[in-house]
Amino acid sequence: MGSATTNETLTTILFDIDGTLLISQRAGGRAIDTVFERVFGRPRSIELRLHGRTDRGILTELFAAEGRDLTDSEFVQFIDSYLHELDQNLHQQPATVLPGVTELLPWLAEQPKVALGLLTGNVRQGAQTKLQHTGLNHYFAFGGFGDDHASRDDVAREAAASAQTHLQHRYCPASVIVIGDTIHDVTCGKAIGAKTLAVLTGGASEAELTAAQPDWICPDLRAGFSILQHLLR
Ligand SMILES: [Mg+2]
Repeated sequence: MGSATTNETLTTILFDIDGTLLISQRAGGRAIDTVFERVFGRPRSIELRLHGRTDRGILTELFAAEGRDLTDSEFVQFIDSYLHELDQNLHQQPATVLPGVTELLPWLAEQPKVALGLLTGNVRQGAQTKLQHTGLNHYFAFGGFGDDHASRDDVAREAAASAQTHLQHRYCPASVIVIGDTIHDVTCGKAIGAKTLAVLTGGASEAELTAAQPDWICPDLRAGFSILQHLLR
């Protein structure tokens, strides 16, 4: 690779995890329930809404429903137990990598003008656990995670800042693509001025995702692969 190439800016592609790269039979949701019952001595009293949300936001809402403010130390303790349960759950019931992912990621990794990162509501270590169980962790060198932010838009800003730190002068804010399976992935992508690609593998309906106005919408990442090949060629 010559110096002319290394000075070129890159297209940064930020991936959501759950419903986009893999599905895990509610391994995370079940882990949250297990730890919640241990902490409160009873099952949660409200619905667990996971899709497109951050771990920080989910736990803040669950604690608030019990009349409690989630302190930082409670969050750290909860997540510590959660990570243990998540790992166990994924050993018992392995996650499934979604169609197209095992073709798309190696191809993207080989592209000299592409950088791959994460934009996920999972806490950093939860993301790593899910990706390690499915052999996908090594593709991603940076990202934004759900440790510190209840708002996914803030996670997107963290991901963009992380990309900038990692890629330095090769990062180009005008060349970012966010890929995810919920309207929240689309809106947070727009919040950082990224292009957005929505996939229908996470359970959201085509009508729901279309209403969020992503730049592209496709049934899965097999179709997403074609779009990206065309775009990045
Ligand atoms: Mg998702």
